[in-house]
Amino acid sequence: MKSTLVIDLEAEKQEILKRYRALLRACKSTLQKGDKKEIRKAFDMALESHKDMRRKSGEPYIYHPIAVAQIAAEEIGLGTTSIVCALLHDVVEDTDISLEDIEREFGKKTARIIDGLTKISGVFDYNSSLQAENFRKMLLTLADDVRVILIKLADRLHNMRTMDFMPRQKQLKIASETIYLYAPLAHRLGLYAIKSELEDLSMKYLEPDTYKYIAVQLNEKKAERNAFIKTFIEPINEILHEQGLNASVYGRPKSIHSIWNKMKKKNIPFEEVYDLFAIRIILDSTPEREKAECWKAYSIVTDLYRPNPDRLRDWVSSPKGNGYESLHTTVMGPKGQWVEVQIRTQRMNEIAEKGFAAHWKYKESSNDNGLDQWIQKVREMLSNPEANALDFLDDFKMNLFSDEIFIFTPKGALLQLPMGATALDFAFEIHTDIGATCIGAKVNHKLVPLSYKLQNGDQVEIITSSKQVPKEDWLNIVMTAKAKSKIKSSLKEEKRRIAENGKEILERKLKSLKITYNTDNLNKIAYFFKLPSTQELFVSVANGKIELKDLKDYLQSEKEIESRHTDPKLTENQQIENVLTKVKSSESDILLIGEDMQKIDYNLAACCNPIPGDDVFGFVTVNEGIKIHRTNCPNAAQLMSNYGYRIVKAKWNRQKELTFLTGLHIVGIDDVGLINNITKVISNDFKVNMRSITVDTNDGIFEGSIKIFVNDKEHLDQLIQNLLEVKGVTGVSRFDA
Ligand code: MN
Repeated sequence: MKSTLVIDLEAEKQEILKRYRALLRACKSTLQKGDKKEIRKAFDMALESHKDMRRKSGEPYIYHPIAVAQIAAEEIGLGTTSIVCALLHDVVEDTDISLEDIEREFGKKTARIIDGLTKISGVFDYNSSLQAENFRKMLLTLADDVRVILIKLADRLHNMRTMDFMPRQKQLKIASETIYLYAPLAHRLGLYAIKSELEDLSMKYLEPDTYKYIAVQLNEKKAERNAFIKTFIEPINEILHEQGLNASVYGRPKSIHSIWNKMKKKNIPFEEVYDLFAIRIILDSTPEREKAECWKAYSIVTDLYRPNPDRLRDWVSSPKGNGYESLHTTVMGPKGQWVEVQIRTQRMNEIAEKGFAAHWKYKESSNDNGLDQWIQKVREMLSNPEANALDFLDDFKMNLFSDEIFIFTPKGALLQLPMGATALDFAFEIHTDIGATCIGAKVNHKLVPLSYKLQNGDQVEIITSSKQVPKEDWLNIVMTAKAKSKIKSSLKEEKRRIAENGKEILERKLKSLKITYNTDNLNKIAYFFKLPSTQELFVSVANGKIELKDLKDYLQSEKEIESRHTDPKLTENQQIENVLTKVKSSESDILLIGEDMQKIDYNLAACCNPIPGDDVFGFVTVNEGIKIHRTNCPNAAQLMSNYGYRIVKAKWNRQKELTFLTGLHIVGIDDVGLINNITKVISNDFKVNMRSITVDTNDGIFEGSIKIFVNDKEHLDQLIQNLLEVKGVTGVSRFDA
């Protein structure tokens, strides 16, 4: 598709100047004599050198450095040197300007920071070769001047804010880097506002559906929430004023990412997250009075609303390591829900939003001097490997997705594995052959067994031997699907070879015992030795586990059975055996529910009423073929532990034409027409057949149980969703009909 972009250069020039003036306004408070000239010089240089470049969106490139400088000034509170560096942060990498040019025009300090910014542009890319040890060194280099990290954060924040024009692949890569490195870094440096925004923006691209869902939900209840906040803070405001405290009180929404985290951590739906916002009381106070006034405000709030004693956090008396100061309490609101209240002064608030940079600004009169102290502190934190620097790295690692770990190869490449993965998983992750011949591993240069559980950030070297082959018990060591399937297929291959060999031996032996070599007899022999298949029988023969004398025992018992004619117990076992053999001989070892219907007899267990989509297994019964149970069926554990050999894997084969009986428990507030509305959703909207409905109402509380026929779990989930939307309904849960 061709499109023509019409650019009004004159209008653009005006817009660039407008943005530049906005930047100057943003740094006004820190400007000292001569600073404005310096910033203008940097702006002119950036403008000139980027003049022919445009962003993916088509906008002039210079918008980007201006925006980064504005973030540095406004949202991180950095001074002139940083603003100059932010304006020039891309020129050495992307244009003809050299570091020498920068040093000549702006001095050594600025040149060093720009050099740092140019060098680290690739370092944050965790797919690039990056050794575990080098990771710390890299951070040390960065901390040589922390402004490098801070400007890099501003750069990343602006890129994340303007990522819509990027191709999807790039969005994903940048967003995962952000959540992996930049957001934890911002957190560690106390830049809470930036950390939250980076997390939200990453989620917007990494999990767009969930992000949108929560955003829509938040928006829908906004008016209601605001009304609540208003009635909640009104009396607080009044009394604060009466007591002579100068404060602003407002409600602040929690970030989408933090709401999502809470939903995942507590395994609750959006509706059950109660703290969607926090109330913030910002006091205008003096350094001498601020602690006392925070506690005075606390006393006012808790006189009005009952506090939860377990939820008091006092970071005013002892600030957090990253400088955060605030008084948090959770109180019971007028409608019986918990509300978090954060009390702090303006100074504390600025530190909370902008991190240490703001902290030192208050400590020292000269801005630059304070920043230097702060830089010194971060540098110490990083350069002391015994204590803090390691904590710092741990923080980094802990802040990753909790169910994933990142492991380094000896060459420094980074691999992502699920939590709990072992050295052997890692070997298979690198290459099938490396996994198959793995005899041990060195983790952080120490020898460990194959079963060693890897920790985030471990550096792993795999030791192999050409003599090694995959072993059966490896299946208990690995946890990744990849390693499991590779081991299985290699074991299968090996087994097939051995079985082939055993088959020949068995054939000869049977001949000598005058037993006819046919499928029926082979099945009988396998059953006699309690082996699940004839292939296992061949293997046992090849391994020498079954010898001629054992076969003679079999012959003997066969004769006895014949003499006793029929042993009912054997027939039972034989029946079970037959069904098992049938399933195991199918392509995949898995009973496909729906498809195998004609061939294998099965039905759905009445104790848990599974429906398609549920996790299920098959259990071979004596007289009724296979019964399908949900894996979370109350009887499952007992069946699996006592009759493990009778369990078959089962899977649903997608189909719409069949329906399954299940039950729903509905609670709500009794209202005229509630039952009518519920049945309307079920029968009219969903065209689901109801088998029964029972309803109890008690003091205005409605409780109903319905039994219905649904197609599958997805269908059921959708129905539950729609029922929840019926006015008056407060909860819908599934029960086993
Ligand atoms: Mn940039």
